[in-house]
Amino acid sequence: MLSLTGDAVLTWINLAADEIELRKAYLNDLDAPIGDSDHGANMARGFLAVKDKLATEKPADIGALFKTVAMTLLSTVGGASGPLYATFFLQAAAKSAGKTELDLADWTSCLEAALTGVMQRGKAVLGDKTMIDALAPAVEALKHADGKSLGEALTASASAAEEGMTATIPLVARKGRASYLGERSAGHQDPGATSTHRLLKALSEVAVQ
Ligand code: ADP
Ligand code: MG
Repeated sequence: MLSLTGDAVLTWINLAADEIELRKAYLNDLDAPIGDSDHGANMARGFLAVKDKLATEKPADIGALFKTVAMTLLSTVGGASGPLYATFFLQAAAKSAGKTELDLADWTSCLEAALTGVMQRGKAVLGDKTMIDALAPAVEALKHADGKSLGEALTASASAAEEGMTATIPLVARKGRASYLGERSAGHQDPGATSTHRLLKALSEVAVQ
């Protein structure tokens, strides 16, 4: 695959919804010791609504598709993660407005804008034990993907997100609900970094199909 077509992006979002649904209990369990056990439920509710919406609505281009995802997540996810994931997809929508295909450079600019938007909205930086810890390395990997095919680059990006996700375990949370625990938040994997990894992994799977 040389670029992500609108159909591939739609396949990604539907696959991501299925993957989140499958891991709903796991994401809730990760949120139990350092939050309120609802991250899986929040995300599954949001992505189910996205899936339903996209089953009937046919967005004109990838920008419109991402905008639909963003607005649906905003109105259904709730919690801290709802507005943050809405920002993620709204920023990606702005970079993909009017496009019917995304090549590697296009997707890199989408994900970079998503990262910047989420950081501005949540005021978290790398190392605060949030979804940024998966997202920032994923963007870095894309920016250093010279010579890689789209599929290889997205696989590297998902692997970087996975490493960032695992690296949240020893961290002390400085943002979100987990930060209320202070030092006691260390020793637990961040649920939001885990859902971000899952989304990017689903994309890499679509790209190498
Ligand atoms: P809530 O914390 O309101 O219950 P969720 O459980 O759905 O919301 O989401 C929790 C996740 O949101 C955390 O694991 C973390 O990754 C992410 N998060 C929380 N606050 C921020 C923030 N300020 N910036 C980035 N991500 C954040
Ligand atoms: Mg929670």
